[in-house]
Amino acid sequence: MGEGRRFDVLVVGGGPAGSVAAVALARGGARVALVDKARFPRDKACGDLVGPRGVQLLDDLGVKIPGTRQVGDMIVVGPTGRRVRLPCRPGITYPGYGFAAPRLVFDETLLAEAEAAGAEVFVGRAGEPLWREGELDGFELSSGARICADVVIGADGATSRVADVAGLVDPARVLWGFALRAYVDDPVTMPHIALWESEPGRGFPGYGWLFPGVDGRANIGLGLGMLSDRGAGGAAAQQFGAFAAHLRRHDVLKADVPSDPRSPGRLGGWLKMGMLGTQPAKGRVLLVGDAAGLVNPLQGEGIAQAMVSGRAAAEAVLAGPADAALRYRRFLRDTYTPYASITAPVHAALLPKPRAIAAVGRLVTAPGVGRAVAGGWAVFWNDLLAGATPGPPRTVASFAAGVGRAFTARTRARAWFTREF
Ligand SMILES: Cc1cc2nc3c(=O)[nH]c(=O)nc-3n(C[C@H](O)[C@H](O)[C@H](O)COP(=O)(O)OP(=O)(O)OC[C@H]3O[C@@H](n4cnc5c(N)ncnc54)[C@H](O)[C@@H]3O)c2cc1C
Repeated sequence: MGEGRRFDVLVVGGGPAGSVAAVALARGGARVALVDKARFPRDKACGDLVGPRGVQLLDDLGVKIPGTRQVGDMIVVGPTGRRVRLPCRPGITYPGYGFAAPRLVFDETLLAEAEAAGAEVFVGRAGEPLWREGELDGFELSSGARICADVVIGADGATSRVADVAGLVDPARVLWGFALRAYVDDPVTMPHIALWESEPGRGFPGYGWLFPGVDGRANIGLGLGMLSDRGAGGAAAQQFGAFAAHLRRHDVLKADVPSDPRSPGRLGGWLKMGMLGTQPAKGRVLLVGDAAGLVNPLQGEGIAQAMVSGRAAAEAVLAGPADAALRYRRFLRDTYTPYASITAPVHAALLPKPRAIAAVGRLVTAPGVGRAVAGGWAVFWNDLLAGATPGPPRTVASFAAGVGRAFTARTRARAWFTREF
């Protein structure tokens, strides 16, 4: 049996959610243990794009990521190859750009910032839970160390061990996704998202991307949703080659995609989307980032939400551990449920209907339609409505949110949000 240590807060997971939580907690004077099963630098399957809200949060914290590449407008490529340019405009509370950064560097920089702020970093998998008066109190790590704390923050990603042992997940409700990415030497300069039909008229239940990266290396990926059935994740790997061929046919991709599944940089990962099915906090346990299921159910972004929720959980704890769960839940209710309670039901309703997915993909990229709605689409899709600058794109996005709210009002997914928040 290893040594036992006690902290104010145990943060399990040193990705963007956990490291930002640890930065904010340690700067606020808390004694923090930050535990990750991996020794950093470590890679993470990702498109490597950080959106405008993530840029703003890093700026607020005064954290600089080295060697990033700034990105702005995005191109959406429809199933027939038609392109729509989504503008990236500044809002009142966020800038008009994002950036690309390899997760190897991004996550290591944030973890180092947490350590510099005073968090104590441990390498080891949180395995056996430790209990105190019926509540989760800490973990025994695979290294043998036993770490306990007054508050446990689960920042351990989509398949969170903390969420499982604390009984916070209803597996039958979760909206799972799986995505695969690879690196290619491609000169692409703008982020591209491709809505694809694996057979004509049958939309792929997800989308693919080609994002510019650093040092001439682009990031290509394919991701799909599968509701609560995690068995369907293999489709991303099976269809990867056909998707890359589609991108080449439409002159989006110039490079060859390595067909060997063991090629460097080819990596898959789970996404837990739209909050559905995960209770984000209870008692002395708070879940942040992917562990709380905060990934955008329409476009798969999760880094900004991970960092924003990590900081919010830290602030809730610093304001008083006894009410931290309540305060943090209120933050999530105000910040994320207005969007997730519309888009999670839309995701769940559309996913089993490949013809409807194809029809939506063709409609939004149809001549005239795409250009007319592009500004509002960019705001709504990227969850940038709160804090958007007044103008036609904000009006279109507000209208879309209103229509979405009305159409999803009677769904089971909406009922879950009403009960939970
Ligand atoms: C292929 C793919 C592409 C994506 N592309 C984008 C994108 O371009 N932009 C974007 O914003 N989002 C993207 N996402 C989503 C994004 O990767 C996540 O939302 C983000 O990483 C969430 O951060 P996190 O800190 O919550 O979790 P993670 O980054 O998953 O970090 C969790 C950490 O917990 C550790 N851990 C797990 N279990 C344990 C344990 N038992 N004990 C100790 N440590 C543990 C892991 O080692 C890991 O370091 C993508 C996801 C995938 C799969």
